[in-house]
Amino acid sequence: MNYQALYRKYRPQRFDEVVGQDHVTTTLAREVIEGKVAHAYLFSGPRGTGKTTSARLLAKSLNCPDRAPDGEPCNVCPSCIGITEGTSLDVIELDAASHNKVEDVREMRVNVSTVAAAAGARRVYILDEAHMLSRAAGNALLKTLEEPPEHVVFILATTEPYKLLDTIRSRTQRFDFQPVSTEILIDYLAKISDSEGFSYDHAALGAVTSHADGSVRDAMSLLEQVAALGGGAVTSAGVAKALGIADADSYGRLLDSIHEADAAGSLSLIAEIAAQGADLRRFVSDAIGFLRGVFLAQYTGNIEEVANESRETIEHWKQYASVLSRAEVLRAIDTLSDALIQLRAGREERLVVELAVMKLTRPEIVQDFEALTVRLDRVERQLRDIKRGAPADTQTTEPEDSGEPDRPFTPTVVPAGPKVTPPSQEPAADVPELSAVPAPDERADHPAGTTDRTDTPVDADQPELTLGEFERAWPAIMATIRQDVGPRRHALLREARPVSVDNNTVYFEVAAHMHFHLEQLKADSGIEQAIVSAGREQLGRPVRVAFRSADSQTKSTAEPPEAVPDKDDLIASEDNAAPDPAAVVLDILGGEIVADSSETTE
Ligand SMILES: [Zn+2]
Repeated sequence: MNYQALYRKYRPQRFDEVVGQDHVTTTLAREVIEGKVAHAYLFSGPRGTGKTTSARLLAKSLNCPDRAPDGEPCNVCPSCIGITEGTSLDVIELDAASHNKVEDVREMRVNVSTVAAAAGARRVYILDEAHMLSRAAGNALLKTLEEPPEHVVFILATTEPYKLLDTIRSRTQRFDFQPVSTEILIDYLAKISDSEGFSYDHAALGAVTSHADGSVRDAMSLLEQVAALGGGAVTSAGVAKALGIADADSYGRLLDSIHEADAAGSLSLIAEIAAQGADLRRFVSDAIGFLRGVFLAQYTGNIEEVANESRETIEHWKQYASVLSRAEVLRAIDTLSDALIQLRAGREERLVVELAVMKLTRPEIVQDFEALTVRLDRVERQLRDIKRGAPADTQTTEPEDSGEPDRPFTPTVVPAGPKVTPPSQEPAADVPELSAVPAPDERADHPAGTTDRTDTPVDADQPELTLGEFERAWPAIMATIRQDVGPRRHALLREARPVSVDNNTVYFEVAAHMHFHLEQLKADSGIEQAIVSAGREQLGRPVRVAFRSADSQTKSTAEPPEAVPDKDDLIASEDNAAPDPAAVVLDILGGEIVADSSETTE
């Protein structure tokens, strides 16, 4: 005997063999027994749920001379066998996807009206994918449905009933086929597996059904594929392999690593999944699905009733629902959803997924990312301010703004205001905390910040200058000194970035490879003077200036910039100070300066 796909081999030959559609099949059988069969039916429902099979069964039952009292066909008479083998002239199947033209329907109408059926037999037309009919073909069909010959039954099968003409829909008796529920489908697959001699367990069959979306046909195709790959053994790992997806236990492992803050474990999980050739995007999407289940388990008492999943999966959800906090689950869903959006935008797959699991297993990293957003917002605000031509205005909002965005980076090492204030000076309470706290950038980059601060020459009324404060004033200072220093030195200065402030000395860094620039800046006291005097004007206090080379080793400590490629520069600036927000602003202003025709070359 020829090879037959399982789906064909086990195609139901009786109404009671149709899986999970009792509400349809019992009604059909009863209509046959009671002689109340309609002239036209509409079978709607997802693919692989038994629409065409039920249509054939209806034809069989209608035409079987030895029909059982419960409406089941005998399956042994010539009519039944003819229909089973697809040789019966009383059942005509048309695929509307390929016969959607008006000529096809006209031809069918000619057949309907002229070809007489076998004595007393009913001719059944099964029109599959009925929603694919063209409008003209639909109208031609409608004519037939309006005056149906006595011996004819039409069955329209469709996955998209709303696409059919209303006039057609209204002339049919409609049956809705449902996606088959998971446990019913598992039982059915178990029966098939037994009769095929497959080895299996409930969880493996659950894995099969969870990828079938309630379609018997899809479930059986997958079962067959997995069994073939596994030499007759049906396992969860085999399902993952057949589908090119991550193994079902990966989701549990991911959640374990989140719970245990095991970043290394989560990264090796991703490496394994990638090595198996599984689709990482699918993994993220399925992980979100799993987390959704955990989330439901945390909020619903009767999860078995609301979720159509195998009992193993539901047990798994419940297990993690009690291990992880609700906040952890929500955060994981958020983070993975963000990653999925990035993946859909075509970002580098592996990197996006790795960063997502790092964020989940190492929450402190998230602070950096959130801080990054804050920082980006600040740049945008600065740009807006500059465009309004009011850089000086930003100073008035200084106390709230300057230190704030930087604080989340390393909150634990921020010294309290009073500690940096010399006891001999004003009471500590008078020192505004935010301004007294040096920005973390300073401490990170500038070890000299640990030197004795009590000899500060700052007026005690005046809080110590912060980097943020200086950065805000910097565009205005640059604009002011342009006249004084001329375009060449101005351009030179644009290669220097303010990176830290210590004891009112502003440290500028020049890229490590630009030795010549650095030497010129150091040697040119005119530039320094210009900055000092413009700085006093803008900041209302004396500043000192120092230039130095950007230390190459500070660069390597930056977050992986590939994380969010369009934010590269900003991420790098966390540790590297180049380019920083002021520089971004400066670049824009710089372009205008060059274009200024009133400027003469020195
Ligand atoms: Zn029969």
